[in-house]
Amino acid sequence: AAESAKDAGSAIDKSGFQVSDDVAIQIVGMNKWFGDFHVLRDINLTVHKGERIVICGPSGSGKSTLIRCINRLEEHQAGQIVVDGIELSDDLKKIDEIRREVGMVFQHFNLFPHLTILQNCTLAPIWVRKMPRREAEEAAMTYLERVKIPEQANKYPGQLSGGQQQRVAIARALCMNPRIMLFDEPTSALDPEMIKEVLDVMVDLAQSGMTMICVTHEMGFARQVANRVIFMDEGQIIEQNEPEEFFTNPKSDRTKLFLSQIL
Ligand code: ADP
Ligand code: MG
Repeated sequence: AAESAKDAGSAIDKSGFQVSDDVAIQIVGMNKWFGDFHVLRDINLTVHKGERIVICGPSGSGKSTLIRCINRLEEHQAGQIVVDGIELSDDLKKIDEIRREVGMVFQHFNLFPHLTILQNCTLAPIWVRKMPRREAEEAAMTYLERVKIPEQANKYPGQLSGGQQQRVAIARALCMNPRIMLFDEPTSALDPEMIKEVLDVMVDLAQSGMTMICVTHEMGFARQVANRVIFMDEGQIIEQNEPEEFFTNPKSDRTKLFLSQIL
């Protein structure tokens, strides 16, 4: 294992980039296929610590696949992905390490229906992090307070609204004390009146300095918190810019077309 760690390290050096301390995620020349289908093409992306990135683009453009590659829910076939100094490879120990650093929130909240809200939040800290139960519960309550639903701790997911469940999903991810949070269309399955309560929690998280990548079409959120907006189409990063410039002065015709359809 020590040998392969060294190899991975030298591979990074040979490819000509050094991951500096302020880089959270570095993706270089990354490609991914599903069978014959080339889903991600030559992705290059550097995310610095504390950055808040919004990714948008048409359905099927590869947004979910890209962020799923960052915590190895999907494998890439070419190029490199380095997360918090750890290069993603087949090394299971490294995958575990990365999953501990990277929290993820999905469109469908993926809570365990047969566990209470508190149990949903303490499961991974107790079983993965080996945290004592009392300590895990105290931490979970702190995060449930932060997402403004401590009073729901002993209920089951089915007893909560969609917006409340999504806030639990965020609290649950935070209980692992991640350094990076990935959001995949966290509000797109919600009724309109519940979107704001979830976005408010995400804004609060952004203001706390969390490194975040959010796939979302909530352009108000993008303007408010993103320092960079990335537009993807057909598996490629087509364009990226700071929000004001991105929205008022898009360069590519594909970006213009996309914005005209959603704004
Ligand atoms: P987005 O999130 O931008 O809508 P996805 O990353 O979900 O796009 O999907 C990109 C493309 O890859 C789509 O054409 C989708 O059908 C395809 N795809 C996604 N997951 C798989 C899979 N597990 N196997 C085969 N094709 C997939
Ligand atoms: Mg998607």
